[in-house]
Amino acid sequence: MSKRKSKKSKSGAGRELVMNEKQGTLSAYGARFILIPVKLIHSIEDRLTESFGPVTATSFQYEIGREGGAQYIHLAHKAGFNIKTPSDVQRIASSLGTLDGWGKLEIVDFDPTRKFARIRWKNGVSVRNKTGKTPVCHFGRGILTGAVGEIFGSRCESIEVSCQGKGDSFCEAIIGEPREISRLADTRP
Ligand SMILES: [Zn+2]
Repeated sequence: MSKRKSKKSKSGAGRELVMNEKQGTLSAYGARFILIPVKLIHSIEDRLTESFGPVTATSFQYEIGREGGAQYIHLAHKAGFNIKTPSDVQRIASSLGTLDGWGKLEIVDFDPTRKFARIRWKNGVSVRNKTGKTPVCHFGRGILTGAVGEIFGSRCESIEVSCQGKGDSFCEAIIGEPREISRLADTRP
């Protein structure tokens, strides 16, 4: 009985953040988390850019993010979230994304049949000022791309079509099949 309860329970399933001072651990959704300063993310971004140049640094952040995004979906599965409808996906984004401090996430479009998603966010961790010339949320976009790809069950790519880091009022990524995304990237002004 207790087994069934833990599976069905919406409020339970270890979704709350648990600090274990004795062990020095934080956990939620049945996995271990850590709380790190956003400035550490910035240091990693800066170090990658200095060492490898902006193009490679962008790719590293994106690919590392993508791995993380897939992990988030595994966590969501384990924590008992449904992952079928766009509102399920919004619920996951609100719990695992927004509540975890990644920024305020909004699922604008989510279509598993067409393998296409449009996700908007504000206050992304990579936005440091609004004066850039190009989008800056490579890590976050990677996380979203990995997460969406994991839900669709196929590899996805993405472009950030709007970014607060270059003065737009929100960040927005289009995520889809690699061919479709490169077509979009080529035809954008
Ligand atoms: Zn952005």
